[in-house]
Amino acid sequence: MKYQKHLSNKTLLPFKGRTLQLMVTTSLCKPCIRTTAECLLVNLYQEQVTTQPLVENILLQWYKTQSFIYLKSRTAFWADRIGVSFRRICIKDQRSRWGSCSSLHNLNYNWRIIMAPEPVIDYLIIHEVSHLVHFNHSTHFWELVSMHDPIYQEHKLWLKQNGSQLFQIFPHN
Ligand SMILES: [Zn+2]
Repeated sequence: MKYQKHLSNKTLLPFKGRTLQLMVTTSLCKPCIRTTAECLLVNLYQEQVTTQPLVENILLQWYKTQSFIYLKSRTAFWADRIGVSFRRICIKDQRSRWGSCSSLHNLNYNWRIIMAPEPVIDYLIIHEVSHLVHFNHSTHFWELVSMHDPIYQEHKLWLKQNGSQLFQIFPHN
């Protein structure tokens, strides 16, 4: 699947591993974004001009919010499973990194991970949460990761092969 750099109606956008078609409409209803099985529907208030930067900004904000909500709840789930606690989650807009964690038990994620399939998102979370136990990439670290994600190598490979494509959408200036 090739994603376009510039957004327009019918642009294909990835979200949690699904490919959604962008549909921009205007109406007198409150501006909103929702997803259906196949579409990402952006409704703008009739008087808002449907300029490219506006739609892009609204979508970007929506992606970041969705990312935060999802990552927060999945991180809580995996931290509980792995038996560690974390302090804070930050959604970042790094140019190439997917995530990191600090010795203060804060976790950082790249918001773009929300575009990847759910098992890949889980892999990233398990990876970062496992660093709260092992602050390195030792054998023990990878054992812990594989305990919770037995096919983590597949997910790691997915990120390696498809990750750069996700950086083409809403590119950094
Ligand atoms: Zn790591």
